[in-house]
Order: sequence, then structure tokens, then C-alpha cells
Amino acid sequence: MNTQGSNRTAPNSMAYRVAFTTAEILRLDAAALADATRTIAPASLLLDVNPARAASPLLVLAADTPDQIDRHPASACARHVHLPDRILIPGLVNAHTHLDLTTIGPQPYAGDFSSWLDMVRRSRPTEPDAIAAAVCDGARMSLAAGVVAVGDIAGAPRGQPTLVPAQALAATGLTGVSFLEYFAIGKGAAALDRIQRLIQSAPRSLGPVRVGLQPHATGTVGLAGYLWAADLAAQGWPVSSHVAETIDERELIARAAGPQREFLDRLALWDDTLLNELGHGRSPVEHLRAVFERARFLLAHVNDASDADIELLARTRQSVAYCPLASEYFGNHANLGPHRYRDMLAAGVNVCLGTDSIINQSPGGGLSIWREMKLLRRRDHTPARDLLAMATVNGARALGLHAEQWTFTPDHAICALASVVVSPTHSGQDPLETALEFTHEPELLMHAN
Ligand SMILES: [Zn+2]
Repeated sequence: MNTQGSNRTAPNSMAYRVAFTTAEILRLDAAALADATRTIAPASLLLDVNPARAASPLLVLAADTPDQIDRHPASACARHVHLPDRILIPGLVNAHTHLDLTTIGPQPYAGDFSSWLDMVRRSRPTEPDAIAAAVCDGARMSLAAGVVAVGDIAGAPRGQPTLVPAQALAATGLTGVSFLEYFAIGKGAAALDRIQRLIQSAPRSLGPVRVGLQPHATGTVGLAGYLWAADLAAQGWPVSSHVAETIDERELIARAAGPQREFLDRLALWDDTLLNELGHGRSPVEHLRAVFERARFLLAHVNDASDADIELLARTRQSVAYCPLASEYFGNHANLGPHRYRDMLAAGVNVCLGTDSIINQSPGGGLSIWREMKLLRRRDHTPARDLLAMATVNGARALGLHAEQWTFTPDHAICALASVVVSPTHSGQDPLETALEFTHEPELLMHAN
């Protein structure tokens, strides 16, 4: 637990604004409070704080207008914290990221995905200490942006899956899932052995972090590798994958052609038996129909989705981690048309938000879900509450966390409390909407882990 008094230093050198070291009732008076269900302005939040209650140190007693909280019996003995320039929000969820690539930093994209992948392979840390350092860097950036839970992809340097990123993540204070990535296609399908061996001895969780599986993508893992992951999902392992990301992926799946086919040829992975599953005119989502009928995945991107694809995703209750900045960085938004996240939400798909790796973020931007929300607010005028839902409860559901820990629900604990500075110049408008238009990163005020 991060319980910072003035003389203590938080993990990762975070200094939270509201210290809590002993059991007490806290009353936070703020300009507003917002979660996936409501906005209250002005607002007061009454918290029963008890660091000794390890599973739920931040218990919400009430969240309401100040005059309603005045009448709450616990209010009289509460310690007051005045935050008149702040909107209180839950901590945020980054449902798809690659913290082990953080030390590569933001890089330009030259327009060729295969060359970009080659750059990642050359630049990624491969030694355990360097991998762990990159994960810690990414976790520090996440916490600094108000993110407290992640769906983190534990990369497989030189094709070898490893628990090192999961172990490093478990020590950072973040919660969520570390998805062990693997590759297994065509003549390289036997590489499935490596992840199968690792899973036999892998723990199901490490502290607050669960261990999951990530078949990398439809162009690098054959259907057998996906079906194996689906079988493990039935045993409770969280599963994720990159799906329907690029126009090249569409070409490989539908026609067994294009740059991703050339990539498999170049690496001597192509095997004509792959024509049993590729080249039948299917979309990447349709390609995985049998997999989705068996298991619920967290699907990164899904930039490419037809009406029938969305219907399949909704019916089989898949989650989609949309990464808006990554989609623009790779030109997918231009090549494949606008992302259909609003159609997916309307159809009942659980859509959440991810940053993907630091490589596709803008220099100095860190790893910020708030920036992803700002992009969608600015570009699409998406309602702020929908964006906050995607960044909190939807992300939590996608990672198998308790969604109520990402709302201010009386008698439920919250995972973390964050705040954003309220914009002083737009009185009368929804404070969360103006904050999304005009203010910077959330600040983490209190964090339960
Ligand atoms: Zn990714």
C-alpha cells in the first residue's frame, strides 16, 4: 500500500497529495466528482480510510453534494481536505501497453510496419535486468499519469517467453495482468512448446498482477496456437491478442498475400498448410470465430471491423482495447477508416482504452490514458462520461478486475483516487468535458496498492 506521510517516499518516487497513514474518516471537498455513472458539482467524498484493511483500505462511505454530506453521521468526525480547484476521478486503467519497451522511447514511423517491427526487435531490452528496468520506467510513467491498472504485454525477446516483466510489474504498485506473448505459425508452429513449458510452472498471479497469455497476432500465431490459448482461458487464464490492426493483416487473412505474407516468407516461416486457414476471404475477426466461441479475449486494436465482425464480438462477449494514438501513428485511422468504437459500444462490446507502447506516443507524452481520452474528445466529440467509462470500469472488466472499484459506490472500496485541475473559464459546462479539453494529466491522490 502507498501510504505517504510527509516523511515517506512512495514506490517509484511518487508523492501522493493526500497522505493516509492511520485509520480515519476523510472528507474531500472538491469542485466536482465524476465516474462512469455520474458527475456531481460541487462534490464531497467521504472515505473510511484504514491502511490495515489491506484488501480495501479506501472505502467509500458517501459521494454527494456538500450539503448532503454535511448530514452524514460520519462527516462530523472527518478530517477535511479542501481541493476547490480539482475534479475527483477514479484511478485509470491502461488495458493495452508494452511496458518492457519503455526504454526505447518515442520513435518516428516511416510507414512500413515490417521495418518498424525489425526496429523493435533490434532495440528491445533482452537481458532480465534491462527488461525489469524498462517495466519499472513504464510503471512510473503510468502512475504519474493517474494509471493504476494495466494490461501489459510481456514480450518474448528472441522468441523466448519470459516471466521477468510480470515479476517486475508485480513490484511496481500497479495491478492488472501481465500477458505472456508468444509466436507460433507455419514452420515456426513448434515454438508453441516454449510457452506451453513456461505455463506449466508459471504462477497464476504475482502479488496484485495476474499472469495471462497473449498469442501475438493473427499473422504470427496460427489457429492452433489461438485454440490452445482459448482452452487455457477456460481454466481461468486471462487471454489477449493483437487483432484486426492493419490493412496488411486483412490481406494476409483474406488472400494469404501482401506484406505480412512476404514477412513470413522472408523468415522462412511460410508453410503451404497455412492455406487451410488463410486465403479464404475472411476478415481477421471472422478468422478467429471458433476461438471466440470458446473464450473471451481482450483484443488490442480491432481497427478493422465490419458490421458482422462487431456482431460476432458482441455475441461472444469479447473486449476491445482501442489505442487511439497508436491507430493514428500507424495510419490505420486513415487506411481503414475511422475506428468503430462507438458502434461497438452501442452493440454491447466492452471497449476500453490502451496506449500501446511508448514507441507510438509523442515525445514527452509519457504513457497517458488521459491523452487518449483527450484525442477522442477533441476529434470525435465523444461524451466525456463514455470516455471515462472506457478508461475505468470497461478496462477493469477487460482485465478481470472488480469494476465497482473504479466507481464511487457507497460501501465499496475504490482502487485509487485521482484528480484533474478544473478549468476556471468554462463555468456552466460539464466540468469533466472542459477538463478533457483544457487540462493535463490526472494526479494520483491516493492509491490502495
Ligand atoms: Zn500492442
